[in-house]
Amino acid sequence: MTMSATEYAFKVHIDDSCINCDMCVPECPSDSITMDGKHYQINADTCIRCEHYYDSPNCIEVCPIDSVIQEPTPAP
Ligand code: SF4
Ligand code: SF4
Repeated sequence: MTMSATEYAFKVHIDDSCINCDMCVPECPSDSITMDGKHYQINADTCIRCEHYYDSPNCIEVCPIDSVIQEPTPAP
C-alpha cells in the first residue's frame, strides 16, 4: 500500500538557499526532486521519505549547503 503525504510524520522541502547543484536529484529513490521555478522542489505526494532505502532522508544527507529542511506534517 502506498502511503499518502499526510500519513508521514514529517515532510521535506527545499528552501530558497538551493544553488541547483544537482547533487540531490539522482540520490532520490522516488524521483521526487524536480526543477520548479528558481530552484529544485520536492513533490510531497511522491516523496517516500526514503523509507526502506535509507535511515534518514537522503536529500538532507547529500545537500552540501543544508537547503533541504525537514518539518513535521500537521495532523490530518
Ligand atoms: S526524503 Fe528521500 S524520497 Fe523524499 S525527496 Fe528526499 S531523497 Fe527523495
Ligand atoms: S543538493 Fe541542495 S543545493 Fe543542491 S540541488 Fe539539492 S537542495 Fe539544491
